[in-house]
Parts: sequence; structure tokens; C-alpha cells
Amino acid sequence: MPFCPKCRCEYRAGFTECADCGVGLVDTLPPAPQPGDLDKAVFKPVRSYPSRIHAEMVQEALTNEGIPAIIRGSEIFGTGTGLTEPSPPKLILCVPEEQMEEAALIADGIVDPL
Ligand SMILES: [Zn+2]
Repeated sequence: MPFCPKCRCEYRAGFTECADCGVGLVDTLPPAPQPGDLDKAVFKPVRSYPSRIHAEMVQEALTNEGIPAIIRGSEIFGTGTGLTEPSPPKLILCVPEEQMEEAALIADGIVDPL
């Protein structure tokens, strides 16, 4: 079956162009892009903190030690279903998987984890 590579619509055999997009159809769709997959594959959560001040303090210390750290907010983890009370704000510090142990040691030396 031909597919439109732009809007991913499936067409019947015989069509060569997407009616909506005006682009040529392809036989197989490229894999759907997965935003954030790269980050998830590389960075793992190592500690969480109740405030940005704490998280950034640890992040800075890790960066000084040559460990790239990113901070993620708890709001991305599917709150807002309406089934549960909103959880308190939480910031999750993520580092490359292979540096998790080292990062945890450094982090715990600076701020108590949540
Ligand atoms: Zn299309």
C-alpha cells in the first residue's frame, strides 16, 4: 500500500500522490519520529528534589565533575488524569546511565534526596 510520507495517510494502490499534501507516495513509511527518545536512552533519573534550587545546585556540582546532568520536571510524568491529587512539585535530576553511581555519590554529598 502506498503511504504519504508527510501526513502518513494510507492510499489504495494506484495513487501516486497525496491529495492533501501534494507529495509523492512511498511504499513504506519511515519510522515515526519519537521526540525525547534520545534523552530517555541516554539519561536516567538518579535523584529527585523538591525545589529547583536543590536540583540546580547538584546539577552544577555534577557538571563541575564532568558529568552532564539535566533536570526534568515532574509535570511531564502524566499528571492531570483527574484521578489523583496533584503531586507536589518534584524535579528529577538525570545523568548518563554509565555515570549514575558516581553522580549519586556526588549528589548525596551535597543535598539530601527527597
Ligand atoms: Zn499527505
